[in-house]
Amino acid sequence: MLYHSTRQQGPEPQGICLSQALRKGLAPDGGLYVPQAMPRLSPEAFEGLRSLPAIAARLLAPFFEGDALAPELGQICQEALDCPIVLNILAGELHAGQTGVLELFWGPTAAFKDFGARFLARALVRLEAPEGTACRERTILVATSGDTGGAVAAAFHGLAGLRVVVLYPLGRISPMQEQQLTCWGDNVTALAVRTGFDGCQDLVKAAFAARAQGVALSSANSINIGRLLPQMSYYAWASLHWHRHFGRAPGFIVPSGNLGNALACLWAREMGLPIGDVVLATNANTTVLDYWNTGQWQPRATLATLANAMDVGNPSNMERLRVLYPTHDQVRGHLEVHAIDDDAIARQIREGLAGWPHDLCPHTATAVAVLNKLRVCHGRRHGMNQSPPTRDWIVAATAHAAKFDETVAPLTGHPTRMPQSLRMLMERPTSRHIIDPELAQLLPWLGSGRPDSATQGSENTTLRT
Ligand SMILES: *Cc1c(COP(=O)(O)O)cnc(C)c1O
Repeated sequence: MLYHSTRQQGPEPQGICLSQALRKGLAPDGGLYVPQAMPRLSPEAFEGLRSLPAIAARLLAPFFEGDALAPELGQICQEALDCPIVLNILAGELHAGQTGVLELFWGPTAAFKDFGARFLARALVRLEAPEGTACRERTILVATSGDTGGAVAAAFHGLAGLRVVVLYPLGRISPMQEQQLTCWGDNVTALAVRTGFDGCQDLVKAAFAARAQGVALSSANSINIGRLLPQMSYYAWASLHWHRHFGRAPGFIVPSGNLGNALACLWAREMGLPIGDVVLATNANTTVLDYWNTGQWQPRATLATLANAMDVGNPSNMERLRVLYPTHDQVRGHLEVHAIDDDAIARQIREGLAGWPHDLCPHTATAVAVLNKLRVCHGRRHGMNQSPPTRDWIVAATAHAAKFDETVAPLTGHPTRMPQSLRMLMERPTSRHIIDPELAQLLPWLGSGRPDSATQGSENTTLRT
């Protein structure tokens, strides 16, 4: 399998192999890597496979075909995708259709991003440190609107031959998210940038453009194909289990920001997995909804919302979506988009999800609010490509509510129970550095040595709970 840029303007007209795409992250023409063709597998191809790593290895084999990493795929899946995963089928509702919750938040940093980040880390470490060779350190540069940085830092922490630099918007993420970015040390550096998320992403792009400086740089944002591919595997896992159990293809409702998670779901369906309708739930950042409605792609400034890991005004994975579905009609035919404002998110957190024993994080709450809309609308209309319309819905629960306790607890009226994984992270000492959104201030952090001047903006704290 070869990969090419979404823009197809670069110096790689023949495409490049997976290993190269993983290393580069972003294509030289500024586009994002996509597979040259979408492989197809029938549900029967997964017969006898039950665990997430086993299903992932089968699913991803065509994407690794011909690559140096192909023989390692099984082992990468074993090591990276061993996080607990739960498909919670809620009682009742047999007539109107069944509801499930795909709990993706039982990993080390309590959000779905652990799956992709761990997979990418285990793949890259095999590329960077072939047995016994001493090679130059590679720096993984990542901008985060919240959960990405923590997941990437956790996934790469302590891996030989790899450094991580995490950029995040100063003052725009929750204290607990910040704790998860700044608690690592060793090969992980956290930089708070005086800008918003899009400003951080711009800085990452500028750094990649300046790569000629001799810094070995890779990205670990959801723009990296190595994070997207494994995210398909939990949709495969959940839809196969559902299909085996009920004999029907469930729809998925996916809380969406930069569109990586939703795209993984659409790719999985494209590959032939038993997935019905795919519905994107966004917050008040309505760029994707506006496109869905009008056919005009109009990136906007990012709005801050309660679901802050989805605060993206210019989702970069739209480029990949438009390779998959080139026309506006195709987009409308293959997916649906709903936006949920802060009032409705708050209401949903207060209300919770009947039959599910956990509090809702603000992101999952957007999907549950959309679920309620769909359940109400059901029967009246359904302009989707399927007939009969999907009645079974699986909500992707993208984070544990405890990560957003300062939002969730005042609404539910009780503190959120913290999972063991988060409790461990909260006890680690932290360290961060503050920079302006200027390439000149970032570059010194990307080599192997730490800049002297940069220590001026440093803060080290120990936070104990
Ligand atoms: C990142 C994130 C999202 C959005 O996912 P995308 O792949 O960027 O669309 C949703 N919920 C949570 C909790 C996240 O961390």
